[in-house]
Amino acid sequence: MNIEKLSEFVSVSAQIKPEDVKNLAELGVEVLVCNRPDQEEAGQIAFAEIEQEAKKYGIESFYLPFTAGNMTSKETSAFANLLTKEQSIHAYCRTGNRSKKLWQAASAASSSDTHGLDASKFDIVIIGAGSGGIATASSLKKRQRHLRIAIIDPSNDHYYQPAWTMVGGGAFDIEQTKRNTLDVIPEDCEWLQYSVVDIQGKNNAVVLSNGTTVYYSHLVVAPGLQLNWGGIEGLEETLGKNGVTSNYRFDLAPYTWELVTTMKKGKAIFTQPAMPIKCAGAPQKAMYLSASEWLRKGKLDDINIQFYNSGAALFGVEAYVPALMEYVKKYKVELCFKQTLFKVDGEKKIAYFKNEKGEVSESQFDFIHVCPPQRAPDFIRESELSDDKGWLVVDAETLQSTQYPNIWGVGDVLNTTNAKTMAAVRKQAPVVAQNIVAALASSSTQVAYNGYGSCPLMVEHGKVVLAEFCYGGELDPTFPAWLNKGTQPTSFAWFLKASILPYVYWHGMLKGKEWLASPKAKAEAK
Ligand code: FAD
Repeated sequence: MNIEKLSEFVSVSAQIKPEDVKNLAELGVEVLVCNRPDQEEAGQIAFAEIEQEAKKYGIESFYLPFTAGNMTSKETSAFANLLTKEQSIHAYCRTGNRSKKLWQAASAASSSDTHGLDASKFDIVIIGAGSGGIATASSLKKRQRHLRIAIIDPSNDHYYQPAWTMVGGGAFDIEQTKRNTLDVIPEDCEWLQYSVVDIQGKNNAVVLSNGTTVYYSHLVVAPGLQLNWGGIEGLEETLGKNGVTSNYRFDLAPYTWELVTTMKKGKAIFTQPAMPIKCAGAPQKAMYLSASEWLRKGKLDDINIQFYNSGAALFGVEAYVPALMEYVKKYKVELCFKQTLFKVDGEKKIAYFKNEKGEVSESQFDFIHVCPPQRAPDFIRESELSDDKGWLVVDAETLQSTQYPNIWGVGDVLNTTNAKTMAAVRKQAPVVAQNIVAALASSSTQVAYNGYGSCPLMVEHGKVVLAEFCYGGELDPTFPAWLNKGTQPTSFAWFLKASILPYVYWHGMLKGKEWLASPKAKAEAK
Protein backbone atom coordinates (compact mmCIF):
# COMPACT_ATOMS: atom_id res chain seq x y z
CA MET A 1 0.00 0.00 0.00
CA ASN A 2 1.42 3.33 -1.08
CA ILE A 3 0.31 6.04 1.38
CA GLU A 4 0.50 9.71 0.40
CA LYS A 5 0.48 12.09 3.36
CA LEU A 6 -1.41 15.29 2.47
CA SER A 7 -1.33 17.08 5.82
CA GLU A 8 -0.68 16.45 9.48
CA PHE A 9 -4.05 14.68 9.74
CA VAL A 10 -4.88 13.40 6.27
CA SER A 11 -3.43 10.70 4.04
CA VAL A 12 -4.73 9.02 0.86
CA SER A 13 -4.05 5.88 -1.12
CA ALA A 14 -5.40 3.70 -3.88
CA GLN A 15 -8.00 1.00 -3.03
CA ILE A 16 -7.06 -0.73 0.22
CA LYS A 17 -7.51 -4.39 1.19
CA PRO A 18 -8.90 -5.63 4.55
CA GLU A 19 -5.39 -6.71 5.59
CA ASP A 20 -4.13 -3.10 5.13
CA VAL A 21 -6.41 -1.86 7.90
CA LYS A 22 -4.16 -3.25 10.66
CA ASN A 23 -1.24 -1.35 9.16
CA LEU A 24 -3.29 1.86 9.07
CA ALA A 25 -4.36 1.36 12.68
CA GLU A 26 -0.70 1.01 13.68
CA LEU A 27 0.00 4.31 11.92
CA GLY A 28 -2.64 5.93 14.13
CA VAL A 29 -5.50 6.25 11.64
CA GLU A 30 -8.80 6.96 13.44
CA VAL A 31 -11.14 7.54 10.50
CA LEU A 32 -11.39 5.75 7.15
CA VAL A 33 -13.13 7.37 4.16
CA CYS A 34 -14.08 5.48 1.02
CA ASN A 35 -14.60 7.72 -2.04
CA ARG A 36 -15.23 4.89 -4.44
CA PRO A 37 -18.70 3.65 -5.38
CA ASP A 38 -19.03 -0.09 -4.74
CA GLN A 39 -18.89 -2.26 -7.86
CA GLU A 40 -17.01 0.36 -9.86
CA GLU A 41 -15.03 -2.48 -11.37
CA ALA A 42 -15.15 -6.28 -11.28
CA GLY A 43 -13.56 -7.87 -8.22
CA GLN A 44 -13.52 -4.62 -6.23
CA ILE A 45 -13.49 -4.98 -2.42
CA ALA A 46 -16.81 -3.70 -1.03
CA PHE A 47 -16.84 -0.84 1.48
CA ALA A 48 -18.73 -3.05 3.99
CA GLU A 49 -15.82 -5.49 4.08
CA ILE A 50 -13.33 -2.71 4.90
CA GLU A 51 -15.73 -1.18 7.42
CA GLN A 52 -16.09 -4.51 9.23
CA GLU A 53 -12.31 -4.88 9.50
CA ALA A 54 -11.94 -1.25 10.64
CA LYS A 55 -14.38 -1.81 13.51
CA LYS A 56 -11.98 -4.40 14.99
CA TYR A 57 -9.41 -1.65 15.46
CA GLY A 58 -11.87 1.01 16.64
CA ILE A 59 -11.60 2.93 13.37
CA GLU A 60 -14.71 4.83 12.28
CA SER A 61 -15.59 4.47 8.57
CA PHE A 62 -17.43 6.79 6.20
CA TYR A 63 -18.75 6.04 2.73
CA LEU A 64 -18.55 9.22 0.57
CA PRO A 65 -18.50 7.80 -2.95
CA PHE A 66 -18.44 9.77 -6.21
CA THR A 67 -17.34 9.02 -9.76
CA ALA A 68 -14.51 10.99 -11.38
CA GLY A 69 -15.68 14.46 -12.33
CA ASN A 70 -18.85 14.27 -10.22
CA MET A 71 -17.81 15.47 -6.77
CA THR A 72 -20.70 17.44 -5.23
CA SER A 73 -21.06 19.79 -2.29
CA LYS A 74 -22.51 16.86 -0.31
CA GLU A 75 -19.15 15.04 -0.24
CA THR A 76 -17.17 18.27 0.18
CA SER A 77 -19.13 19.43 3.22
CA ALA A 78 -19.14 15.95 4.79
CA PHE A 79 -15.35 15.73 4.43
CA ALA A 80 -14.91 19.34 5.61
CA ASN A 81 -16.88 18.38 8.70
CA LEU A 82 -14.50 15.48 9.39
CA LEU A 83 -11.51 17.83 9.02
CA THR A 84 -12.77 20.09 11.80
CA LYS A 85 -12.29 17.26 14.34
CA GLU A 86 -8.48 17.08 13.91
CA GLN A 87 -8.37 13.30 13.86
CA SER A 88 -6.16 11.11 11.72
CA ILE A 89 -8.07 10.41 8.48
CA HIS A 90 -7.16 8.02 5.69
CA ALA A 91 -9.18 8.30 2.46
CA TYR A 92 -9.05 6.03 -0.56
CA CYS A 93 -10.52 5.57 -4.03
CA ARG A 94 -9.28 3.70 -7.12
CA THR A 95 -5.95 5.55 -7.40
CA GLY A 96 -6.10 8.07 -4.54
CA ASN A 97 -6.63 11.05 -6.86
CA ARG A 98 -10.35 11.51 -6.17
CA SER A 99 -9.69 11.46 -2.42
CA LYS A 100 -6.94 14.03 -2.88
CA LYS A 101 -9.27 16.32 -4.84
CA LEU A 102 -11.95 15.98 -2.18
CA TRP A 103 -9.44 16.93 0.51
CA GLN A 104 -8.33 19.99 -1.51
CA ALA A 105 -11.91 21.12 -2.04
CA ALA A 106 -12.93 20.41 1.57
CA SER A 107 -9.89 22.16 3.06
CA ALA A 108 -10.64 25.23 1.04
CA ALA A 109 -14.32 25.12 1.92
CA SER A 110 -13.57 24.80 5.62
CA SER A 111 -11.22 27.78 5.51
CA SER A 112 -13.99 29.58 3.56
CA ASP A 113 -11.34 30.93 1.22
CA THR A 114 -13.48 31.35 -1.86
CA HIS A 115 -12.00 34.67 -2.99
CA GLY A 116 -15.41 35.90 -4.01
CA LEU A 117 -15.47 33.64 -7.04
CA ASP A 118 -18.24 31.25 -6.00
CA ALA A 119 -21.06 30.99 -8.47
CA SER A 120 -19.09 33.05 -11.03
CA LYS A 121 -20.30 32.28 -14.50
CA PHE A 122 -18.22 33.03 -17.56
CA ASP A 123 -19.11 32.71 -21.25
CA ILE A 124 -15.85 30.87 -21.70
CA VAL A 125 -13.52 29.27 -19.18
CA ILE A 126 -10.06 28.26 -20.41
CA ILE A 127 -7.91 25.83 -18.45
CA GLY A 128 -4.25 26.73 -19.05
CA ALA A 129 -2.53 29.99 -19.97
CA GLY A 130 0.10 28.27 -22.11
CA SER A 131 0.37 28.43 -25.89
CA GLY A 132 -3.06 26.91 -26.51
CA GLY A 133 -5.00 28.75 -23.81
CA ILE A 134 -3.73 32.23 -24.67
CA ALA A 135 -3.97 31.75 -28.45
CA THR A 136 -7.57 30.54 -28.14
CA ALA A 137 -8.56 33.39 -25.81
CA SER A 138 -7.12 35.93 -28.26
CA SER A 139 -8.81 34.30 -31.24
CA LEU A 140 -12.13 34.35 -29.36
CA LYS A 141 -11.74 38.01 -28.36
CA LYS A 142 -10.84 38.87 -31.94
CA ARG A 143 -14.17 37.40 -33.05
CA GLN A 144 -16.36 38.65 -30.20
CA ARG A 145 -14.93 41.36 -27.94
CA HIS A 146 -17.77 41.20 -25.43
CA LEU A 147 -17.19 37.55 -24.39
CA ARG A 148 -16.53 37.16 -20.68
CA ILE A 149 -13.49 34.89 -20.55
CA ALA A 150 -11.68 33.44 -17.53
CA ILE A 151 -8.26 31.84 -17.97
CA ILE A 152 -7.19 29.56 -15.14
CA ASP A 153 -3.49 28.81 -14.58
CA PRO A 154 -1.38 28.73 -11.40
CA SER A 155 1.90 29.62 -13.12
CA ASN A 156 3.47 33.08 -12.82
CA ASP A 157 5.42 32.43 -16.00
CA HIS A 158 4.54 31.73 -19.61
CA TYR A 159 7.15 29.99 -21.77
CA TYR A 160 8.07 29.79 -25.44
CA GLN A 161 9.26 26.20 -25.13
CA PRO A 162 10.22 25.62 -28.81
CA ALA A 163 13.34 27.76 -28.27
CA TRP A 164 14.69 25.63 -25.41
CA THR A 165 16.43 23.27 -27.84
CA MET A 166 18.16 26.28 -29.35
CA VAL A 167 19.19 27.42 -25.85
CA GLY A 168 20.69 23.96 -25.28
CA GLY A 169 22.53 24.42 -28.58
CA GLY A 170 23.90 27.85 -27.67
CA ALA A 171 21.79 29.63 -30.28
CA PHE A 172 19.16 31.43 -28.16
CA ASP A 173 18.98 33.45 -24.94
CA ILE A 174 16.96 31.61 -22.29
CA GLU A 175 15.54 34.87 -20.90
CA GLN A 176 13.87 35.51 -24.25
CA THR A 177 11.75 32.38 -23.77
CA LYS A 178 9.88 33.60 -20.69
CA ARG A 179 7.25 36.29 -19.98
CA ASN A 180 5.05 37.00 -16.98
CA THR A 181 1.74 35.24 -17.45
CA LEU A 182 -0.03 38.50 -16.63
CA ASP A 183 1.65 40.13 -19.64
CA VAL A 184 0.26 37.57 -22.11
CA ILE A 185 -3.32 37.45 -20.77
CA PRO A 186 -5.42 39.20 -23.46
CA GLU A 187 -7.15 42.45 -22.57
CA ASP A 188 -10.47 42.05 -20.76
CA CYS A 189 -9.87 38.40 -19.86
CA GLU A 190 -9.79 37.44 -16.19
CA TRP A 191 -6.83 35.40 -14.94
CA LEU A 192 -7.64 33.11 -12.01
CA GLN A 193 -4.30 32.01 -10.58
CA TYR A 194 -5.24 28.51 -9.39
CA SER A 195 -5.02 24.95 -10.64
CA VAL A 196 -8.12 23.21 -11.86
CA VAL A 197 -8.56 20.01 -9.87
CA ASP A 198 -11.79 18.76 -11.38
CA ILE A 199 -14.03 19.21 -14.41
CA GLN A 200 -17.74 18.66 -13.76
CA GLY A 201 -19.14 18.39 -17.26
CA LYS A 202 -22.69 17.73 -16.12
CA ASN A 203 -22.74 20.92 -14.01
CA ASN A 204 -20.86 23.07 -16.57
CA ALA A 205 -18.33 23.76 -13.85
CA VAL A 206 -14.69 23.39 -12.90
CA VAL A 207 -13.37 23.16 -9.34
CA LEU A 208 -10.24 25.10 -8.46
CA SER A 209 -7.48 24.16 -6.02
CA ASN A 210 -8.94 26.59 -3.45
CA GLY A 211 -12.27 24.78 -3.59
CA THR A 212 -14.09 27.44 -5.59
CA THR A 213 -16.46 26.34 -8.34
CA VAL A 214 -16.40 28.34 -11.57
CA TYR A 215 -19.22 27.93 -14.10
CA TYR A 216 -19.04 28.24 -17.88
CA SER A 217 -21.14 28.19 -21.02
CA HIS A 218 -18.18 26.75 -22.98
CA LEU A 219 -14.98 25.25 -21.64
CA VAL A 220 -11.61 25.08 -23.41
CA VAL A 221 -9.25 22.48 -21.97
CA ALA A 222 -5.60 23.41 -22.64
CA PRO A 223 -3.43 22.30 -19.68
CA GLY A 224 -0.68 20.80 -21.85
CA LEU A 225 0.90 17.55 -20.72
CA GLN A 226 2.79 16.36 -17.67
CA LEU A 227 6.51 15.61 -17.76
CA ASN A 228 6.93 12.47 -15.69
CA TRP A 229 10.48 12.98 -14.36
CA GLY A 230 9.74 10.52 -11.55
CA GLY A 231 9.14 7.81 -14.16
CA ILE A 232 12.92 7.32 -14.40
CA GLU A 233 14.48 6.11 -11.16
CA GLY A 234 17.20 8.38 -9.78
CA LEU A 235 16.73 11.05 -12.44
CA GLU A 236 15.19 13.93 -10.49
CA GLU A 237 17.91 14.01 -7.84
CA THR A 238 20.73 14.15 -10.38
CA LEU A 239 19.30 16.55 -12.97
CA GLY A 240 21.45 19.64 -13.36
CA LYS A 241 24.61 17.94 -12.07
CA ASN A 242 26.85 14.94 -12.82
CA GLY A 243 26.55 15.64 -16.56
CA VAL A 244 22.78 14.94 -16.53
CA THR A 245 20.60 17.46 -18.35
CA SER A 246 17.41 18.03 -20.31
CA ASN A 247 16.19 20.74 -22.67
CA TYR A 248 12.67 19.95 -21.45
CA ARG A 249 13.13 22.32 -18.49
CA PHE A 250 13.66 26.10 -18.57
CA ASP A 251 16.34 25.98 -15.86
CA LEU A 252 18.25 23.08 -17.42
CA ALA A 253 18.51 24.07 -21.10
CA PRO A 254 21.45 26.45 -20.36
CA TYR A 255 23.17 23.57 -18.49
CA THR A 256 23.02 21.48 -21.69
CA TRP A 257 25.05 24.12 -23.50
CA GLU A 258 27.47 24.43 -20.57
CA LEU A 259 28.09 20.68 -20.74
CA VAL A 260 28.48 20.73 -24.52
CA THR A 261 31.04 23.51 -24.44
CA THR A 262 33.10 21.93 -21.65
CA MET A 263 33.10 18.35 -22.94
CA LYS A 264 36.39 17.31 -24.56
CA LYS A 265 36.10 13.53 -24.83
CA GLY A 266 34.07 10.55 -23.61
CA LYS A 267 30.56 9.28 -24.14
CA ALA A 268 27.45 11.37 -24.77
CA ILE A 269 24.03 9.72 -24.55
CA PHE A 270 20.72 11.14 -25.79
CA THR A 271 17.45 9.41 -24.90
CA GLN A 272 13.91 9.40 -26.23
CA PRO A 273 10.95 7.86 -24.33
CA ALA A 274 7.83 6.19 -25.72
CA MET A 275 5.52 8.38 -27.82
CA PRO A 276 3.55 10.56 -27.58
CA ILE A 277 5.83 13.37 -26.41
CA LYS A 278 5.78 17.07 -27.12
CA CYS A 279 8.01 17.90 -30.07
CA ALA A 280 8.98 14.37 -31.06
CA GLY A 281 12.13 15.70 -32.72
CA ALA A 282 13.47 17.55 -29.65
CA PRO A 283 15.57 14.66 -28.26
CA GLN A 284 17.49 14.29 -31.51
CA LYS A 285 17.71 18.05 -32.11
CA ALA A 286 19.68 18.22 -28.85
CA MET A 287 21.98 15.54 -30.23
CA TYR A 288 22.59 17.13 -33.64
CA LEU A 289 23.31 20.57 -32.19
CA SER A 290 25.74 19.13 -29.63
CA ALA A 291 27.50 17.07 -32.30
CA SER A 292 27.63 20.06 -34.64
CA GLU A 293 29.48 22.04 -31.95
CA TRP A 294 31.89 19.16 -31.19
CA LEU A 295 32.59 18.83 -34.91
CA ARG A 296 33.22 22.57 -35.22
CA LYS A 297 35.67 22.46 -32.31
CA GLY A 298 37.43 19.35 -33.69
CA LYS A 299 36.43 17.19 -30.71
CA LEU A 300 34.00 14.82 -32.40
CA ASP A 301 36.61 12.08 -32.99
CA ASP A 302 37.05 11.82 -29.22
CA ILE A 303 33.35 11.79 -28.39
CA ASN A 304 31.26 8.68 -28.82
CA ILE A 305 27.52 9.49 -29.30
CA GLN A 306 24.66 7.08 -28.61
CA PHE A 307 20.96 7.71 -29.30
CA TYR A 308 18.71 5.46 -27.21
CA ASN A 309 15.14 5.46 -28.48
CA SER A 310 12.14 3.58 -27.04
CA GLY A 311 10.68 3.53 -30.55
CA ALA A 312 11.79 1.64 -33.63
CA ALA A 313 12.42 4.54 -36.04
CA LEU A 314 14.47 7.72 -36.10
CA PHE A 315 11.42 9.84 -36.99
CA GLY A 316 7.72 9.00 -37.37
CA VAL A 317 7.34 10.41 -40.91
CA GLU A 318 9.53 8.44 -43.30
CA ALA A 319 10.12 11.22 -45.83
CA TYR A 320 12.45 13.02 -43.40
CA VAL A 321 14.49 10.01 -42.34
CA PRO A 322 17.04 10.01 -45.25
CA ALA A 323 18.20 13.57 -44.50
CA LEU A 324 18.46 12.77 -40.79
CA MET A 325 20.40 9.57 -41.49
CA GLU A 326 23.02 11.63 -43.36
CA TYR A 327 23.68 13.48 -40.11
CA VAL A 328 23.64 10.30 -38.04
CA LYS A 329 26.47 9.06 -40.29
CA LYS A 330 28.30 12.39 -40.32
CA TYR A 331 28.32 12.55 -36.49
CA LYS A 332 29.00 8.78 -36.17
CA VAL A 333 25.98 8.28 -33.92
CA GLU A 334 25.28 4.77 -32.66
CA LEU A 335 21.50 4.20 -32.89
CA CYS A 336 19.98 1.97 -30.20
CA PHE A 337 16.29 1.37 -30.95
CA LYS A 338 13.61 -0.17 -28.70
CA GLN A 339 15.66 0.64 -25.63
CA THR A 340 13.95 2.54 -22.81
CA LEU A 341 15.83 4.46 -20.13
CA PHE A 342 14.46 3.46 -16.73
CA LYS A 343 17.18 4.43 -14.24
CA VAL A 344 20.05 6.89 -13.96
CA ASP A 345 22.82 6.69 -11.39
CA GLY A 346 24.25 10.19 -11.58
CA GLU A 347 27.17 9.69 -9.22
CA LYS A 348 28.39 6.53 -10.92
CA LYS A 349 27.42 7.97 -14.33
CA ILE A 350 25.55 4.90 -15.46
CA ALA A 351 22.30 4.84 -17.46
CA TYR A 352 20.12 1.71 -17.39
CA PHE A 353 17.91 0.58 -20.26
CA LYS A 354 15.31 -2.11 -20.87
CA ASN A 355 14.55 -3.64 -24.24
CA GLU A 356 11.16 -4.99 -25.40
CA LYS A 357 11.79 -8.30 -23.66
CA GLY A 358 12.57 -6.55 -20.39
CA GLU A 359 16.29 -7.35 -20.64
CA VAL A 360 18.45 -4.78 -18.87
CA SER A 361 21.62 -3.21 -20.24
CA GLU A 362 23.73 -0.36 -18.94
CA SER A 363 25.85 2.33 -20.48
CA GLN A 364 28.49 4.51 -18.83
CA PHE A 365 28.23 8.21 -19.74
CA ASP A 366 30.07 11.47 -19.36
CA PHE A 367 27.08 13.47 -20.61
CA ILE A 368 23.43 12.45 -20.85
CA HIS A 369 20.51 14.41 -22.29
CA VAL A 370 17.23 12.92 -21.08
CA CYS A 371 13.80 13.47 -22.56
CA PRO A 372 11.35 12.42 -19.80
CA PRO A 373 8.31 10.16 -20.28
CA GLN A 374 5.14 12.19 -20.80
CA ARG A 375 1.45 11.78 -19.99
CA ALA A 376 -1.78 13.73 -19.62
CA PRO A 377 -2.17 15.87 -16.45
CA ASP A 378 -3.57 13.93 -13.45
CA PHE A 379 -6.93 15.71 -13.35
CA ILE A 380 -7.53 14.83 -17.00
CA ARG A 381 -6.38 11.22 -16.66
CA GLU A 382 -8.74 10.83 -13.71
CA SER A 383 -11.69 12.52 -15.44
CA GLU A 384 -14.54 11.03 -17.41
CA LEU A 385 -13.30 13.02 -20.43
CA SER A 386 -10.19 10.94 -21.08
CA ASP A 387 -9.49 7.84 -23.15
CA ASP A 388 -7.93 4.66 -21.75
CA LYS A 389 -4.44 6.22 -22.04
CA GLY A 390 -5.56 9.36 -20.18
CA TRP A 391 -5.69 11.89 -23.05
CA LEU A 392 -8.65 14.23 -23.60
CA VAL A 393 -11.06 12.76 -26.14
CA VAL A 394 -12.15 15.18 -28.86
CA ASP A 395 -13.32 14.95 -32.45
CA ALA A 396 -10.06 15.04 -34.46
CA GLU A 397 -11.34 17.75 -36.81
CA THR A 398 -13.63 20.03 -34.79
CA LEU A 399 -11.72 19.53 -31.48
CA GLN A 400 -15.08 19.29 -29.67
CA SER A 401 -15.44 16.84 -26.80
CA THR A 402 -17.29 13.74 -27.95
CA GLN A 403 -19.08 13.71 -24.59
CA TYR A 404 -20.11 17.31 -23.89
CA PRO A 405 -20.75 19.62 -26.89
CA ASN A 406 -19.73 22.71 -24.86
CA ILE A 407 -16.25 21.35 -24.01
CA TRP A 408 -13.34 21.82 -26.42
CA GLY A 409 -9.66 20.91 -26.37
CA VAL A 410 -6.45 22.52 -27.64
CA GLY A 411 -2.80 21.46 -27.54
CA ASP A 412 -0.74 18.69 -26.04
CA VAL A 413 -3.56 17.29 -23.87
CA LEU A 414 -5.55 15.97 -26.85
CA ASN A 415 -5.91 12.32 -27.85
CA THR A 416 -5.56 13.29 -31.55
CA THR A 417 -2.73 11.79 -33.61
CA ASN A 418 -1.06 15.04 -34.72
CA ALA A 419 2.46 15.93 -33.59
CA LYS A 420 2.19 17.61 -30.17
CA THR A 421 3.71 20.96 -31.13
CA MET A 422 3.19 24.68 -30.81
CA ALA A 423 2.79 24.64 -34.60
CA ALA A 424 -0.25 22.39 -34.15
CA VAL A 425 -1.65 24.74 -31.49
CA ARG A 426 -1.25 27.68 -33.91
CA LYS A 427 -3.72 25.98 -36.26
CA GLN A 428 -6.00 24.48 -33.58
CA ALA A 429 -6.74 27.67 -31.61
CA PRO A 430 -8.56 29.49 -34.47
CA VAL A 431 -10.57 26.32 -35.19
CA VAL A 432 -11.79 26.08 -31.61
CA ALA A 433 -12.50 29.83 -31.42
CA GLN A 434 -14.49 29.76 -34.64
CA ASN A 435 -16.48 26.67 -33.65
CA ILE A 436 -17.34 28.11 -30.22
CA VAL A 437 -18.55 31.35 -31.78
CA ALA A 438 -20.69 29.31 -34.20
CA ALA A 439 -22.10 27.27 -31.31
CA LEU A 440 -22.94 30.43 -29.35
CA ALA A 441 -24.88 31.65 -32.41
CA SER A 442 -26.60 28.23 -32.66
CA SER A 443 -25.02 27.71 -36.07
CA SER A 444 -24.11 24.19 -37.16
CA THR A 445 -21.41 25.37 -39.59
CA GLN A 446 -18.10 24.15 -38.23
CA VAL A 447 -14.48 24.51 -39.30
CA ALA A 448 -11.89 21.74 -39.08
CA TYR A 449 -8.29 21.12 -38.09
CA ASN A 450 -6.38 18.90 -40.53
CA GLY A 451 -3.81 17.53 -38.06
CA TYR A 452 -1.03 19.96 -39.08
CA GLY A 453 2.08 19.86 -36.94
CA SER A 454 5.64 20.92 -37.57
CA CYS A 455 9.01 19.92 -36.25
CA PRO A 456 12.00 22.04 -37.28
CA LEU A 457 14.85 19.53 -36.94
CA MET A 458 18.03 21.49 -36.29
CA VAL A 459 20.62 19.17 -37.79
CA GLU A 460 23.58 21.55 -37.57
CA HIS A 461 24.20 25.14 -36.53
CA GLY A 462 22.65 27.12 -39.40
CA LYS A 463 20.55 24.35 -40.98
CA VAL A 464 17.10 22.88 -40.32
CA VAL A 465 15.04 20.09 -41.88
CA LEU A 466 11.56 21.63 -41.63
CA ALA A 467 9.21 18.67 -41.14
CA GLU A 468 5.58 19.71 -41.70
CA PHE A 469 2.84 17.13 -41.92
CA CYS A 470 -0.81 16.48 -41.09
CA TYR A 471 -2.99 13.51 -40.13
CA GLY A 472 -1.78 10.25 -41.60
CA GLY A 473 1.80 11.55 -41.93
CA GLU A 474 0.89 13.36 -45.16
CA LEU A 475 3.41 16.12 -45.97
CA ASP A 476 1.90 19.61 -45.63
CA PRO A 477 4.62 22.18 -46.46
CA THR A 478 3.88 25.87 -45.93
CA PHE A 479 6.41 27.08 -48.49
CA PRO A 480 6.92 26.15 -52.17
CA ALA A 481 9.83 23.77 -52.81
CA TRP A 482 11.84 26.48 -54.65
CA LEU A 483 11.92 28.49 -51.42
CA ASN A 484 12.31 25.65 -48.94
CA LYS A 485 12.62 21.95 -49.68
CA GLY A 486 11.20 20.50 -46.47
CA THR A 487 12.82 17.08 -46.69
CA GLN A 488 16.31 18.63 -46.96
CA PRO A 489 18.32 20.77 -44.53
CA THR A 490 18.14 24.47 -45.44
CA SER A 491 19.47 27.77 -44.10
CA PHE A 492 16.10 29.36 -44.87
CA ALA A 493 14.41 27.04 -42.34
CA TRP A 494 17.08 27.88 -39.70
CA PHE A 495 16.39 31.60 -40.20
CA LEU A 496 12.67 30.89 -39.87
CA LYS A 497 13.15 28.88 -36.67
CA ALA A 498 15.66 31.20 -34.98
CA SER A 499 14.38 34.61 -36.01
CA ILE A 500 10.89 34.55 -37.51
CA LEU A 501 8.91 32.01 -35.48
CA PRO A 502 9.59 33.55 -32.04
CA TYR A 503 8.27 36.87 -33.39
CA VAL A 504 5.25 35.14 -34.93
CA TYR A 505 4.57 33.53 -31.54
CA TRP A 506 4.74 36.59 -29.29
CA HIS A 507 3.26 39.14 -31.70
CA GLY A 508 0.98 37.01 -33.88
CA MET A 509 -0.29 33.80 -32.36
CA LEU A 510 -0.70 35.11 -28.80
CA LYS A 511 -2.45 38.26 -30.10
CA GLY A 512 -5.10 36.55 -32.20
CA LYS A 513 -3.36 37.25 -35.52
CA GLU A 514 -3.98 34.03 -37.41
CA TRP A 515 -1.11 34.31 -39.93
CA LEU A 516 -1.24 31.33 -42.31
CA ALA A 517 -3.69 29.74 -39.85
CA SER A 518 -7.15 30.85 -40.97
CA PRO A 519 -9.53 28.00 -40.18
CA LYS A 520 -11.06 26.14 -43.10
CA ALA A 521 -14.53 24.64 -43.54
CA LYS A 522 -14.66 20.93 -42.77
CA ALA A 523 -14.55 19.71 -46.39
CA GLU A 524 -11.68 22.05 -47.42
CA ALA A 525 -9.50 21.15 -44.45
CA LYS A 526 -8.96 17.59 -45.65
P1 FAD B 1 1.65 24.48 -22.61
O1 FAD B 1 2.14 25.57 -23.51
O2 FAD B 1 2.65 23.61 -21.96
O3 FAD B 1 0.72 25.16 -21.51
C1 FAD B 1 -0.01 24.44 -20.56
C2 FAD B 1 -0.42 25.42 -19.44
O4 FAD B 1 -1.40 24.78 -18.63
C3 FAD B 1 0.75 25.78 -18.53
O5 FAD B 1 0.85 27.18 -18.40
C4 FAD B 1 0.39 25.13 -17.19
O6 FAD B 1 0.82 25.88 -16.07
C5 FAD B 1 -1.13 25.07 -17.27
N1 FAD B 1 -1.73 24.03 -16.44
C6 FAD B 1 -1.31 22.75 -16.27
N2 FAD B 1 -2.14 22.09 -15.44
C7 FAD B 1 -3.11 22.99 -15.07
C8 FAD B 1 -4.24 22.90 -14.21
N3 FAD B 1 -4.53 21.80 -13.56
N4 FAD B 1 -5.02 24.00 -14.06
C9 FAD B 1 -4.73 25.14 -14.73
N5 FAD B 1 -3.67 25.27 -15.56
C10 FAD B 1 -2.87 24.20 -15.72
N6 FAD B 1 6.69 22.96 -30.69
C11 FAD B 1 6.90 23.38 -31.98
O7 FAD B 1 5.96 23.70 -32.69
N7 FAD B 1 8.16 23.45 -32.51
C12 FAD B 1 9.26 23.14 -31.80
O8 FAD B 1 10.38 23.24 -32.30
C13 FAD B 1 9.08 22.70 -30.44
N8 FAD B 1 10.14 22.37 -29.70
C14 FAD B 1 9.98 22.03 -28.38
C15 FAD B 1 11.09 21.76 -27.61
C16 FAD B 1 10.97 21.47 -26.27
C17 FAD B 1 12.19 21.16 -25.46
C18 FAD B 1 9.68 21.48 -25.66
C19 FAD B 1 9.53 21.21 -24.19
C20 FAD B 1 8.54 21.73 -26.43
C21 FAD B 1 8.68 21.99 -27.79
N9 FAD B 1 7.57 22.24 -28.60
C22 FAD B 1 7.75 22.63 -29.91
C23 FAD B 1 6.21 21.92 -28.11
C24 FAD B 1 5.34 23.10 -27.67
O9 FAD B 1 6.02 23.91 -26.76
C25 FAD B 1 4.06 22.55 -27.05
O10 FAD B 1 3.47 21.64 -27.95
C26 FAD B 1 3.04 23.67 -26.75
O11 FAD B 1 3.58 24.56 -25.80
C27 FAD B 1 1.74 23.08 -26.28
O12 FAD B 1 0.86 24.07 -25.84
P2 FAD B 1 -0.21 23.76 -24.68
O13 FAD B 1 -0.99 25.01 -24.52
O14 FAD B 1 -0.91 22.50 -24.98
O15 FAD B 1 0.68 23.48 -23.39
